[in-house]
Amino acid sequence: MGEMPVDACVLDGIDVQLEASNVARRLHAEKGAEDYAAIQDLVGQATSVAKPRAMYKVAYVDGRGEDLVSLDGVRFRSRVLRVNLDDVHRVFPYVVTCGTELDDWSARLGGFVERYWADCIKEMILASAIKCLHDHIRQEHGLGRISAMNPGSLPDWPLSEQEGLFRLIGDVYGSIGVRLSESLLMIPTKSVSGIYFPTETSYENCQLCPRPNCPGRRAPYDERLYREKFAKR
Ligand code: SF4
Repeated sequence: MGEMPVDACVLDGIDVQLEASNVARRLHAEKGAEDYAAIQDLVGQATSVAKPRAMYKVAYVDGRGEDLVSLDGVRFRSRVLRVNLDDVHRVFPYVVTCGTELDDWSARLGGFVERYWADCIKEMILASAIKCLHDHIRQEHGLGRISAMNPGSLPDWPLSEQEGLFRLIGDVYGSIGVRLSESLLMIPTKSVSGIYFPTETSYENCQLCPRPNCPGRRAPYDERLYREKFAKR
């Protein structure tokens, strides 16, 4: 509706809110135990150095094929993404990260257990940054429900599509310090890339992923969904 493409938007003042008690609960450490105090100490260190960041841009669908979709001239090959964007014209490609400061801090920790705890802390800080980006995009662009797809989370949209996604978003490294390794994984590793899009009904990649006992599962596996919604007819 006449809206012009805008440059990428960077969120670098994301508030870090992390309760030591929540981290301890996730790590099954009882209050009063020795581990609890050590975790509390790590959470204090982490929250004082952490600078999680996010970057996204507004992009427009400018081409569609059977199992590909073009966004601002960059082609993505995925049947699921193409069907999810059937009634959508405007999308929000993004990268969000726990930040290089936190990554450097955890790399300096000595012990195996401390590093494991630090990984959990980094994941929780990343999760709150994702929520912040999600809420920002909804509010800023007046959207109801939004869902995301992430390259590499389904065989239908492999990790090889990361390069196109980074090209679409812009100078991700210069803006928020996230780069792609040779194997196309993100560094810092506690980063997430993807495309947000408006939806009437909620969509989760997990609905199409049969992985058993996944600790990150956000929705039950729906065996019929692919056949009913995404399969070519
Ligand atoms: S079930 Fe687990 S592996 Fe599968 S998409 Fe969800 S989080 Fe990823």
